[in-house]
Amino acid sequence: MILIFLGPPGAGKGTQAAHIVSSRAIPQLSTGDMLRAAVAGQTPVGIQAKAVMDAGKLVSDEIVAAIVEERIEEDDCAGGFLLDGFPRTLAQAEMLDAMLRKKERVLDAVIELRVDESALMSRLRSRIAETKARGEEVRKDDNEETFKKRLEVYKEQTAPLIPYYEKQGKLKVVDGMGSVEAVSAAIDAILDEIRP
Ligand code: ADP
Repeated sequence: MILIFLGPPGAGKGTQAAHIVSSRAIPQLSTGDMLRAAVAGQTPVGIQAKAVMDAGKLVSDEIVAAIVEERIEEDDCAGGFLLDGFPRTLAQAEMLDAMLRKKERVLDAVIELRVDESALMSRLRSRIAETKARGEEVRKDDNEETFKKRLEVYKEQTAPLIPYYEKQGKLKVVDGMGSVEAVSAAIDAILDEIRP
C-alpha cells in the first residue's frame, strides 16, 4: 500500500505514522527525518539543506525527489510505504507521479489530517515542553517564529496538493482534532476500505 500523509506542521502526522507503520507493516518515509540525518551526518545534501531548514523554508524539489526516489527502491519498500513530508509542492507531486509511473507502482491514497489552525500553535508549545521534559534537544525549527513561517509555507506551497489529489480521486480527509486514538481509528477505517 502506497500512502501519502498530508497536513500542516503539528497536525499529528508523526504520531499517526507510527500507528500505520505498526498496523500495516509498511515503512514511514519522512523527508524531514531523512534531511535531518543528512544535516547531522554533514553530507553534501545536509550541508546545503541546513540553513534552509533552520529558516523553515523548503529544500529544493530536485534534492528531495532524488532522496525519495533512491529510498523507495530499497527492499523494505517493496510492499508499500508511507510518505510523510513529501510531496510538499505541486512540482514534487508531479515528480512523484512520474516516478511511480516509471516504476509501475500505484498510489493508493492521500490522507489529509485536517486540524484547526488555532490548535497548531498550542500543539507546538506542548511538543517543545514535552521534548524538554524528556531531556531531549528541541528541533531547531521548532520555535514560534519559524513555526509560523512553516505554516505559511504549508498554506502557500503544500495546500494546493489537496485539490490536486482530490481531482485524482485519491484524497481522504481525516478530522485531526480528536484524540490520538480517535484519529487512528478514523485512519484505520479508511485503510480497511482500501485494502481490508
Ligand atoms: P514538519 O514537522 O513541519 O512537517 P518536517 O520534519 O517534515 O517538518 O520537515 C522539516 C523541514 O525539512 C521542512 O521545514 C523543510 O525545510 C525540509 N523538508 C522536509 N520535507 C521536504 C520536502 N518534501 N521538500 C522540501 N523541503 C522539505
